[in-house]
Amino acid sequence: MKKFTHVNASSIDEAVSWLGRYGQKASVIAGGTDLLGKLKDEILPTYPEAVINIKTIPGLDSMREEEGMLKIGALTKLHDIAVNPEVKERYPALSDAAHRTASPNIRQMGSVGGNICQDIRCWYYRNSYNRFPCLRKGGGRCYAIEGDNRYHSIFGGSVEGGCYAVHPSDTAPVFIALGAKIMTSKRIVNAEDFFDVVVGGTTILDEDEIVTEIQVPAPTDDQRSAFMKFALRSSIDFPIVNCAVMINESNGVVSAARICLNAVFVKPYRAHKAEEAILGKAIDESNAEAAGEAAVSGAKPLMYNRYMIPIAKALVKRAILACKNRGS
Ligand SMILES: Cc1cc2nc3c(=O)[nH]c(=O)nc-3n(C[C@H](O)[C@H](O)[C@H](O)COP(=O)(O)OP(=O)(O)OC[C@H]3O[C@@H](n4cnc5c(N)ncnc54)[C@H](O)[C@@H]3O)c2cc1C
Ligand code: SF4
Repeated sequence: MKKFTHVNASSIDEAVSWLGRYGQKASVIAGGTDLLGKLKDEILPTYPEAVINIKTIPGLDSMREEEGMLKIGALTKLHDIAVNPEVKERYPALSDAAHRTASPNIRQMGSVGGNICQDIRCWYYRNSYNRFPCLRKGGGRCYAIEGDNRYHSIFGGSVEGGCYAVHPSDTAPVFIALGAKIMTSKRIVNAEDFFDVVVGGTTILDEDEIVTEIQVPAPTDDQRSAFMKFALRSSIDFPIVNCAVMINESNGVVSAARICLNAVFVKPYRAHKAEEAILGKAIDESNAEAAGEAAVSGAKPLMYNRYMIPIAKALVKRAILACKNRGS
């Protein structure tokens, strides 16, 4: 690990000011479960001169229901979300996603803000000492297109020339399905508009901007949500595919649906075709199956990741059926 200046920010303004001062040469650190691995392995061509610690900012590590929404401070630990009884009861998709993220020790350290801002896991990108200076690091080529792409995008690439690294977060698709908003130090954006594919980043955040809060609308009486994840190991692993669904059901049919997959595309993937397929239908095996089919209808798999298509399809189906099973 190389040397850097470590700053404990005592307020949002102070963190923003430090970030503005160092520009591209600064990194934010929350729990450090993602960032420290990157720094130790020196995966990037550049190294931060300053690491701005935001854990020292008071008031960003708690949750409360207020003004018709669940407000989650960016520093709230994944563990605290997973075990909170109100979240389990009223926001089960979020509780399940937090519970299925990583391992107990990482959930104790990792924050929800860090989870949605975390970097990609493409193994070429993560290889130590920048052995693969790929497109996503500002280099000239993608090594995954013709290489080992078994965990890469099945819905095409992004970044000029094509980066196929998927967004790995388990909580991100839930926030999109639940219609959450992300509050930052300078704006509020829909969770759906928060993610981006840029050299060195996965979000729309400016260099001097941090996430401060996530706001999830409280569920209405006719609303159900569910989260499903497929990973190789159930105790600790990133998703091969995950899926979050929120459904409004009235008079026995679906009156609104939001369905989001992750780990299948360069950003969380809103499955609009699946939503259209289930709209106005009863939630049953065959309609859920048809929605799963619609979800993957635009898939363009690479050489080694075709196997992800039936998994995505099955998760959409199961998440829709799980909403039904949650009853009214
Ligand atoms: C072994 C292992 C297994 C894992 N498995 C999973 C998994 O199954 N599912 C999953 O979703 N994740 C998984 N993760 C990722 C883990 O959930 C994230 O590392 C964690 O949530 C990040 O939170 P953190 O507070 O530690 O972030 P940090 O490591 O401190 O930061 C991560 C990134 O986000 C930025 N950042 C952090 N907070 C903010 C903020 N408030 N505003 C702006 N930028 C910010 C940092 O600059 C950094 O770039 C795994 C990680 C490991 C190491
Ligand atoms: S998929 Fe993206 S991160 Fe991975 S090698 Fe290609 S350009 Fe780099």
